[in-house]
Amino acid sequence: MSGQRTPDVLIVGGGLVGLTAALVLRHHGVCVTLVERRAGTSPQPKARRFHMRTMEIFRELGLAGLVHAAARDLAGHDHMAAGRTLAEAERLPLWQPAGGIAVEVSPELPCLLAQDSLEPLLRAAAVEAGADVRFGTGLLGFEQTGDEVIGRLEHAEIRARYLIAADGARSGIREALGITRAGSGALGGPNVNVYFTADLADVVRGREFNLCQIDHPDAPGALACVDGRHRWVFMSPGGDTERDWPSLLRTALGVPVPDLDVRSVLPWQAEMLVAERYSAGRVFLAGDAAHVMPPYAASGANTGIADVHNLGWKLAAVLRGQAAPGLLDTYHAERRPAGWFAAEQSARRTESFRLGAPDPTLAHPYVLAAGGFQYTAGAIVPDGSEEPTLDFAPAGRVGTRVPHRWLDDGRAVSTLDVAGPRWAVLPGGGRVDFAGPGEVLLLRPDHVVAWRGTGADDAARVRDALLQG
Ligand SMILES: Cc1cc2nc3c(=O)[nH]c(=O)nc-3n(C[C@H](O)[C@H](O)[C@H](O)COP(=O)(O)OP(=O)(O)OC[C@H]3O[C@@H](n4cnc5c(N)ncnc54)[C@H](O)[C@@H]3O)c2cc1C
Repeated sequence: MSGQRTPDVLIVGGGLVGLTAALVLRHHGVCVTLVERRAGTSPQPKARRFHMRTMEIFRELGLAGLVHAAARDLAGHDHMAAGRTLAEAERLPLWQPAGGIAVEVSPELPCLLAQDSLEPLLRAAAVEAGADVRFGTGLLGFEQTGDEVIGRLEHAEIRARYLIAADGARSGIREALGITRAGSGALGGPNVNVYFTADLADVVRGREFNLCQIDHPDAPGALACVDGRHRWVFMSPGGDTERDWPSLLRTALGVPVPDLDVRSVLPWQAEMLVAERYSAGRVFLAGDAAHVMPPYAASGANTGIADVHNLGWKLAAVLRGQAAPGLLDTYHAERRPAGWFAAEQSARRTESFRLGAPDPTLAHPYVLAAGGFQYTAGAIVPDGSEEPTLDFAPAGRVGTRVPHRWLDDGRAVSTLDVAGPRWAVLPGGGRVDFAGPGEVLLLRPDHVVAWRGTGADDAARVRDALLQG
């Protein structure tokens, strides 16, 4: 078992991003140890919306069915609602993309699943996949030599070829490396998330929602639905965590709730900050360690999951000796602009959310949700189409994730299933209508179009050249 061997990669942090990193690396056959200082997974629901692109990554890992099944309680809870209290709230019409989307965008639907339900599922899957997952184990320090990283634990040390710092927004590893962050910093005032249980199923029946804006002057905030019945989070503006939460919640709900039980209170502050460098030597930052952003575009965890999907195949290729170490530099070149874009868009969404007026210059939401962001430099062969666009117009451009088309009548195999964990050559024509007959697309293991051309032999040569840097 991998637990007995020296790991190739040490992952620090057992949140959504660290656990996904372990799964991606195991998918590529890499021996991995994950250390997490907490005894258990997240006690707070926090993230709840997982985008199509994340579900495509879970699909590749064989986990999409499991995640959708765990999310079934909130299937159909896509609406927003608003009112003076929950009792008076009405559902708002469902958001539809402006102008519609001409073709089916993804083989996977997005899903609503609370972080405290998803993390245990990923932890179990990582163990099942052969990762050495150690909760209750903090990294106390580390050093890098020419060919390894040595991590210091309480009673032992771990040597690995590479280290992934998925240790969250206050990343001690990022600080130890002296990596600074850029961005707007704190946005708006402090907030408090109050996680509580109460049986509200009868109150919301027929008005099921994802988020309900509460306008009561004594209890303004937003009520997020965690399981559609018992579990709820009330997001309250202000930094005071010591308020009489049961009475404030009863005001916001507008109904007697005899079984109301406040489980935990989490202060948080919306911030937009992105690390100036995503790597230093053999250490790579991922997730909140690399970028923090306001939660209103639901992109923090989703962006972190895409980080490690990008990093995983590159580390595997270098560890197997199939790629030169220079390939690892493309992680910063690709993911830093992607992180900045997600954080900046999330920050601007916060502003338009606060002003109550949509900002027409914002990117189409699917650019974030369906992998529409375009890499302009990295492990790709630019062809002049790399002009990042705010429209969502998947066309198989170099540097974007391949557009989804079903390749069979049974709608079982998508163009996204062709690559990962391997490279693939996708011929154009027929169902692949975004490329002409005779054209081929070279797909990387993370489903990104690396090159477009006309010959499979050329595609193989391009792949080898990209791997050798
Ligand atoms: C209210 C709210 C709503 C949100 N909604 C969404 C959403 O809908 N969609 C979305 O995508 N994102 C959302 N987010 C953001 C999302 O929660 C974060 O982006 C995500 O959890 C970050 O995951 P992570 O694994 O990078 O970091 P974390 O979850 O912070 O995990 C880092 C882990 O590292 C561990 N650690 C730290 N130092 C050490 C050490 N030295 N040794 C060992 N372990 C260590 C910590 O204990 C922690 O468990 C939301 C955030 C908030 C606050």
